[in-house]
Amino acid sequence: MKSLPILFAALAAEVISSTVTHSFDALILGGGAAGLMCAIEAGKRGRRVALLEHADRLGKKILISGGGRCNFTNLYCQPENFLSSNPHFAKSALARYTPADFIALVEKHRIPYHEKTLGQLFCDGSAREIMAMLEEECRAAGVSIFLNTKIQEVTRGAEFVVQSTNAEFHAPTLVGATGGLSIPKIGATSFGYDLARQFDLKIREPRPGLVPLVLEADDRSSYCDLTGVSAEVIASCDGQRFREKMLITHRGLSGPAILQISSYWKKSHQIHIDLAPSTEVTTIFHDPATPRSLTTLRAEFRKMLPARLADRWLELHAPASWTNTALADFEQQAHAWAIIPAGTEGFEKAEVTCGGIDTDELSAKTMESRKVPGLFFIGEVVDVTGQLGGFNFQWAWASGAAAGRAL
Ligand SMILES: Cc1cc2nc3c(=O)[nH]c(=O)nc-3n(C[C@H](O)[C@H](O)[C@H](O)COP(=O)(O)OP(=O)(O)OC[C@H]3O[C@@H](n4cnc5c(N)ncnc54)[C@H](O)[C@@H]3O)c2cc1C
Repeated sequence: MKSLPILFAALAAEVISSTVTHSFDALILGGGAAGLMCAIEAGKRGRRVALLEHADRLGKKILISGGGRCNFTNLYCQPENFLSSNPHFAKSALARYTPADFIALVEKHRIPYHEKTLGQLFCDGSAREIMAMLEEECRAAGVSIFLNTKIQEVTRGAEFVVQSTNAEFHAPTLVGATGGLSIPKIGATSFGYDLARQFDLKIREPRPGLVPLVLEADDRSSYCDLTGVSAEVIASCDGQRFREKMLITHRGLSGPAILQISSYWKKSHQIHIDLAPSTEVTTIFHDPATPRSLTTLRAEFRKMLPARLADRWLELHAPASWTNTALADFEQQAHAWAIIPAGTEGFEKAEVTCGGIDTDELSAKTMESRKVPGLFFIGEVVDVTGQLGGFNFQWAWASGAAAGRAL
């Protein structure tokens, strides 16, 4: 299909030719969550904004997010919910565009939503409603949207010039909002990092986050036939701990507890899993009348874990003997099962990309490059990554709004 810039809109005043040079106040590269919010905020302030997207539609990740219901924010969003080499960087933007601001937008558009758990807000209906809301806001703000726009080159002279296959775009400001590397099959590219490198901005090595972990061959053969079994655990690593579900997969471990801890895990480091959070597995043996046997221990362990996992774990980690010391060792192990994963399932399955454009390069207030005036980066391409639970969208909205108000 010929790649024509598709003007958003019925509402746009003029038809933009695909071959001429177009001038705007701001060019936003990437029509995902951050780019859309940035375009809306800048458009509302009267800026002439062009949003350039290489895919044939906007916000593909929004549409598939939260299992199709979009976990669009989290009521308890705090700077502590984000990973970054500078944990203070996100504070300013997060304080100036809060979950309440996004909720107000959702309510203005009468989108029904609910809190699922732990402050996570989801649409009652579909993520399509969030996309429709953002598209409607873009229309109202007069944003010009160009789909199927393959960017070939970005240069900077008196202005930024973006060369696409069909057109040339000029503007004094340029925003990189092309996201991270997760899920290449729906359009993720390294474009944002390449653009940053072109302007000599430092990058913190991108790595998959919120991603299932793959076990070493031995552990795989010990546990992976239990695919589909899940249990509430505490997964911990690098000073972080998450009490949520863990799921055994055909290659390793997943589920919210594992996805959360994966963002903090580094190759060859140990992860600890508490299989019986807040309970003692061996309490029953405090009673001298209770026979100290595998049958009794198995029955106790099965109260805390699905039977198949309890049985398997006991087969592989039975107490060395029935002395108090051996039982104490067993108890300790059950609360700190140590695993060194072989790796992760990679960007193909990662919900986010950790790392990215070094926050030292950007103003925390506006997301503008310190070295290159007029150049901004927002959203996932920046070295700020949210935990699971609506935090990544909140960062996209907040950083998008911060830049949109400064364009
Ligand atoms: C399966 C899945 C489910 C998720 N669910 C949730 C959730 O429920 N809650 C939550 O908070 N987070 C969720 N996330 C994370 C969240 O989607 C992202 O953190 C967020 O979308 C990042 O926004 P962004 O605008 O920075 O990047 P993106 O949303 O990735 O947008 C980047 C845009 O840039 C475009 N682009 C890329 N390269 C180019 C190029 N060269 N030229 C032009 N355009 C380009 C892309 O096509 C895309 O439209 C989920 C992620 C995945 C993968």
